[in-house]
Amino acid sequence: MPRGNVAKSHRNSPASLRISADRAPREQSAIEQFAALESSGVCRHAFVRRIAGIDVSHDKAEALRRLEAAHRNIRRKICVESWPLLTAEQVHGNKIAVIDGPVESGRQFAGCDGIVTDQRKILLGIHVADCCAVYIVDPKTPAIGLVHSGRKGTELGAVSNAITQMSALFGSRPPDLIVQLSPCIRPPHYEIDFAAKIVEQCRAQGVNEIHESGVCTACHVGLYYSYRAEKGRTGRMLALLGLL
Ligand SMILES: [Zn+2]
Repeated sequence: MPRGNVAKSHRNSPASLRISADRAPREQSAIEQFAALESSGVCRHAFVRRIAGIDVSHDKAEALRRLEAAHRNIRRKICVESWPLLTAEQVHGNKIAVIDGPVESGRQFAGCDGIVTDQRKILLGIHVADCCAVYIVDPKTPAIGLVHSGRKGTELGAVSNAITQMSALFGSRPPDLIVQLSPCIRPPHYEIDFAAKIVEQCRAQGVNEIHESGVCTACHVGLYYSYRAEKGRTGRMLALLGLL
């Protein structure tokens, strides 16, 4: 068995061999994941960024149609392809759908901007382009929530409603919760800092562990879709969250 040369050969590896990142499929490089959710150990999640090479300069329905295949590939890559996918209509309101039993895949909850569940292997999906996707994970009971919260939804307390529902229905305690805010639009690209408001609302309810991405979508249109920066004709990021 050869021995003794491992460290040396690594040191001598030419930099030109390290090209794997550039050759990664474009869907792979579009997956953003958050350390706090990853380390909770109870969920699978992703925040799917802009996908290079897909023209999404259309209305929302057409843009989503064009992104569908890439988003399906990503669900396969994070090993949740077989989980029922549930979404919300997203009307900039504060109504939260509750899933506390088996449900058929592909359902979209009318009039809702968030979904909470204590069911395992069900995938919650929220689309955003400047608004914030807020991930809520309770590793104790366990239970999860995923909420679309932009300026209006934040004013109406959409995230607060989701936390209240998780407490009332699943017995979640705010001090046990992990809250993660996705990239979203912020000052100076937007006149209101609704992300800061979401953090305040979570604190007021007794949540201690709040992780703020701090990233502005309009500052990074190469990485994210921005409804405002692209004047309404753009794609949507896809936030995904499911209990293991
Ligand atoms: Zn910005």
